[in-house]
Amino acid sequence: MQTRLKATLRVFGWMAFFFLLSAPAIFLAKANESATFVVRGARVFDGHKVLEQADVWVADGKIKAVGKNLKAPSDVKVIDGSGDTLLPGFIDSHTHAWGDALKEAEIFGVTTELDMFTDAKFAQKIKQEQADGKDLDLADLRSAGTLATAPGGHGTEYGIPIPTLSTPAEAQAWVDARVAEGSDYIKIVIDDASAYGSHRPTLDQPTLKALIDAAHKRGKLAVVHIGTQKDARMVIEAGADGLAHLFADSAPAADFASFVAAHHAFVTPTLTVLESVSGTPSGESLTSDSRLAPYLTGDDVGNLKRGFPKFSTSLSEKYAEQTVAQLSGDHVPILAGTDAPNPGTSHGASIHRELELLVRSGLTPQQALSAATSAPAAAFHLDDRGVIAQGKRADLVLVKGDPTQDITATRDIVSVWKLGAEDDRASYRATVEKAKQDAAKIAQAPAPEGAEMGLISDFESGQPDSKFGTGWISSTDSIAGGKSTGEMKIVDGGANGSKHAIDVSGLIDGGLPYAWSGIMFAPGSQPFVPVNLSGKKSISFFAKGDGGTYRVLVFTASGGRIPAQKTFTAGPDWQKTTMPFSEFNGTDGHDISAILFVGGPTPGKFDFQVDDVRLE
Ligand SMILES: [Zn+2]
Repeated sequence: MQTRLKATLRVFGWMAFFFLLSAPAIFLAKANESATFVVRGARVFDGHKVLEQADVWVADGKIKAVGKNLKAPSDVKVIDGSGDTLLPGFIDSHTHAWGDALKEAEIFGVTTELDMFTDAKFAQKIKQEQADGKDLDLADLRSAGTLATAPGGHGTEYGIPIPTLSTPAEAQAWVDARVAEGSDYIKIVIDDASAYGSHRPTLDQPTLKALIDAAHKRGKLAVVHIGTQKDARMVIEAGADGLAHLFADSAPAADFASFVAAHHAFVTPTLTVLESVSGTPSGESLTSDSRLAPYLTGDDVGNLKRGFPKFSTSLSEKYAEQTVAQLSGDHVPILAGTDAPNPGTSHGASIHRELELLVRSGLTPQQALSAATSAPAAAFHLDDRGVIAQGKRADLVLVKGDPTQDITATRDIVSVWKLGAEDDRASYRATVEKAKQDAAKIAQAPAPEGAEMGLISDFESGQPDSKFGTGWISSTDSIAGGKSTGEMKIVDGGANGSKHAIDVSGLIDGGLPYAWSGIMFAPGSQPFVPVNLSGKKSISFFAKGDGGTYRVLVFTASGGRIPAQKTFTAGPDWQKTTMPFSEFNGTDGHDISAILFVGGPTPGKFDFQVDDVRLE
């Protein structure tokens, strides 16, 4: 959904910010190899139906045969599947892929991600690697690349400049440019943010229609993001092939499903993100599920527990669940999609929550499993996957128990294969475990030398230095594609009659909703190395300035890539502010990695001074 309101838009912005700071390289590439093997005696869900106690023979990355008591040469490895269920690898029909997304996805059994908006260059790089036979440890990627939206519309707020359009006359050239970039299908946004009590420019109906027609002219599907039931009808009427989301603004009209069915459209409800949008962090229950938890990174856990801010409208995931039930009754193809990594979701793990919510909506477990396998393969014309049948890709998931009875059994993964190559889940789990142990060690570690005194900086040396940590450096959103500028300098006349303070000034550019410019201090030996400051309880500082409202941002290792923030006002006279750690998303200070004083996101000039920054 990549969300509509400014508060949530910041989420993506900070992610971009962090990714630019640190390349996600904790998981070393390992050469997975395709193997020949037979899974014997498993319950096989073939994408449509269950075959009891069947054998599946894999060779050369494909399924060689499916049946009972298959006769394979004695040197072919046998995997005992008795008591287990073998399924086609899951297809997540709505994600946003970058960084480690595809690696994480495959760990949890998602062997194909249908991305609905990412950097076209990322998609090109991955697809080239896939074509070269690499990336067997990553979910197979199909991507919309850039999405179609109005100038200033949803999708333009993430700090990546994207080509927009506003008239039907521009539609074919816009679509052709996406086709040239390698987009596998066309993603269109129709969302005026009214469902969220807000407003945003959006494409008009004639431009929408022209985009859909232009996509079809090039043999591409047109998948449309909507926020309201009214828009859902409008885009289906205009010829959309599918909805990238359901609406949560109203109960479905009595004829909604028959209307969708009559237009042969498919629907990817994304119940998990709609639940988060409705105020419940959808992924929270996943973090305490022992079948999944050992494979969830600290970032995953942080994101799964995160909700959207409360919207002032009557959004409810129950409306979406009612609509799913109605659509299912009219045999509308329903596709499982998560919209990872939006708040409340994470790549891979969230498909298991989506399956659970589809069943809660009234689908049978088998129907839900089809929604994550054969249904998206059919809807997106991925004829080589989504089913277990001779000649198809050996993208497979083996789980303990019977998910056709208890849908949560999909979480009890024994093995995942992509093109017959088994994912090395054990090493991944060990890496995640090591990172968690390291994090626990930070919590046990003593505070950095000098920190126990409490003083970070009084600037009396005339330099932007600190008693421990890295000192202060400038930080602006230019790192995330923004145009804000900033300057820091030591000035005369500090708080309490002291000699010096630090002055922070600049210009916030309105191009990014999460724009910032200011100064950053890292308490560790270098930026973003977390240290234990839990011996102290709060951050205090003196500030004065032009009367504007400014922010303190605190990054913690356990909070992941998004800082917690609190505001303060910088008036004409020095004033002391004390902010308890606990007010920064409840941290106890045990793994703080950076503290920033910044202006923004309101555009314009700013100027404030800070002095006597301490931990108390
Ligand atoms: Zn999305």
